[in-house]
Amino acid sequence: MERLQKVLAHAGVASRRGSETLISEGHVKVNGETVTTLGTKVTHHDHITVDEMPIQLEMPVYLLMNKPRQAVSTVHDDKKRRTVIDLLDEDVKERVYPVGRLDYDTTGLLLLTNDGELANQLTHPKYEVEKTYIAKVQGIPTNDELKTLRKGVKVEGRVTAPAKSKLVSSDHNKKTAIVSLTIHEGKNHQVKKMLQAVGHPVMKLKRESYAFLTLKGVQPGEYRHLTPEEVKQLK
Ligand code: URA
Repeated sequence: MERLQKVLAHAGVASRRGSETLISEGHVKVNGETVTTLGTKVTHHDHITVDEMPIQLEMPVYLLMNKPRQAVSTVHDDKKRRTVIDLLDEDVKERVYPVGRLDYDTTGLLLLTNDGELANQLTHPKYEVEKTYIAKVQGIPTNDELKTLRKGVKVEGRVTAPAKSKLVSSDHNKKTAIVSLTIHEGKNHQVKKMLQAVGHPVMKLKRESYAFLTLKGVQPGEYRHLTPEEVKQLK
C-alpha cells in the first residue's frame, strides 16, 4: 500500500507536490471513482487514471550491481557497447535505470531502480550520499597531497567539497599506490579529476560503497535485490 501522490510521482506523472494538486483538483480516479483525498492508499492492483489516461504502474525494483569493467552505465549506448542493463537476467522485467553513473572502465557498486523519486533524491547534491572509491594511482601520494584532497582541490575552477582520503598501500618499485577516497559529490569523472589534480593519474577505479551499502557477496557482473529494510534506510 502506497500513498496515491507517491505512486503518481513514482510513475513520472508529476512531482509529489504536482501530483497532490492533480488529486485535490479532481483529475485522478482510482477504480473509476474520483479521489480528492490526499494520502489515499493504493496498491499496484488498483486501476488509476489521470484525466482518464491510465497510469502504467510497475512494482518498484531496487538492484545493487557490482559493475564490471567495459560496461556503460546507461540504458542505451549509441556506440553499441555493452550496457549495465544487458547484464540483467530476464526475471527483471521492469525498466530500471542506473542511479548516477560510473565510467566505462570503473567497476563497483551501482544502484539500479525504476523508482524515479528515490533516484532523484539520491543523486541530488543536497542529500550528500557518501561514496567510497578505491583507486590505483600513478606515483605515491604524500601526506600533503592527501591533506589537499581532504580540504578540497581545485578542479575546473571549482574547489571540491571536503573528502576523506587515505593511502591504503604503496608499491615503491612500480611507483604506484592504492588510495581510498570518500566523496559526497557526483560530478563527471570526479575522483579521476581530483587525483589527477594532485598529480596522481588514476589507473584503475572501483566504487566500494554507496551510503551504507557495500559490495559484500556480489561478484563483478552480478547483482542482488535490496532488502525492504535497505530501501527504507535509503529513503
Ligand atoms: N569518479 C570518476 O572519476 N569516475 C567514476 O566512474 C566515478 C567517480
